[in-house]
Amino acid sequence: MQGNKIALIAFGGNALLKETERGTQGEQLKNAEKACRVLMQIIKRGYKLVIVHGNGPQVGNILIQMEEAVTKIPPFSLDTCVAMSQGSMGYMLERAMRNQLRKEKQSYEVLTVITEVSVDEKDEAFKKPTKPVGPFFTRYRSSMLQKEKKWVMVEDSGRGYRRVVPSPRPVEIVNLDAIIKLIDQDFLVIACGGGGIPVFKNAQGLYEGIEAVIDKDYTSALLASAINAELFIILTNVERVALNYGKPDQQWLNVVTVDEMKTYYKEKHFPAGSMGPKVEAAIAYIERGGKEAIITSADKLKEALDGTSGTRILSLNAVVS
Ligand code: ADP
Ligand code: MG
Repeated sequence: MQGNKIALIAFGGNALLKETERGTQGEQLKNAEKACRVLMQIIKRGYKLVIVHGNGPQVGNILIQMEEAVTKIPPFSLDTCVAMSQGSMGYMLERAMRNQLRKEKQSYEVLTVITEVSVDEKDEAFKKPTKPVGPFFTRYRSSMLQKEKKWVMVEDSGRGYRRVVPSPRPVEIVNLDAIIKLIDQDFLVIACGGGGIPVFKNAQGLYEGIEAVIDKDYTSALLASAINAELFIILTNVERVALNYGKPDQQWLNVVTVDEMKTYYKEKHFPAGSMGPKVEAAIAYIERGGKEAIITSADKLKEALDGTSGTRILSLNAVVS
């Protein structure tokens, strides 16, 4: 049995599907197994573990499958594609995690929760889709899709045209009660995959799916607060957060208070599409009463838990005491 402290860990979909790989199922499974070996570090310290994974590359691939099969199989909407990615990625992670736990003689049980997350259908993000997903198209095909399907298309860095989708803020985790009960019952829970399946409440107060992809960094912060996680960890591909990242005067951050981090955020050290959401998520979690947020890489997780690596964001009280 795990202790009572909860650790929530969030990592990108690219932890399973790396840019340098083709993304075969075998490759993704191997990456899942590697990730789960790393996550044992947290479990061995007695934490109950909750996993939130991203799905950028995977939901992109599902959209390609939809697009390629369009003359044979009617395509699903984007919210359903997010649900599909939660299912397949959850399965890979769940199986890998269970096997790793059994190898290490731990009886901790694992369960994936297909999670709906509500958004505000009036969120400004719906007026201005910004998140590129899925395959690249030629200019011709892109203009056809724009007309036929009313997709918003943008030219993406000289590589072709892509669909951009709204990325609204998460408002409420619909399945929160179930997640809390499972954690209480000693399940290792995998939830809110890909930021959650976006839904909204219609005029009748009923949930409807809505086409969007929520940022998993924001959703994981929301979940970390809602389950009173003691520790919130975001794994990415850098060991630490930096000031003046990539510049000659770059400076890695070790321990920072939430107020210092807010100042750095305002000084624009963290770009919107990459480090920005992670820093914002960490700040939001601490401001809602969270104790400690860590941003680090999978390779450095052990050191980060020991306090010798990663960027730790703490409330002022935690730093003083
Ligand atoms: P993920 O897929 O894990 O969400 P992202 O690529 O979106 O990863 O964000 C992590 C990346 O942010 C890092 O690989 C790094 O290149 C970039 N980055 C931008 N600004 C910073 C910063 N100030 N400190 C550290 N990394 C930064
Ligand atoms: Mg990202």
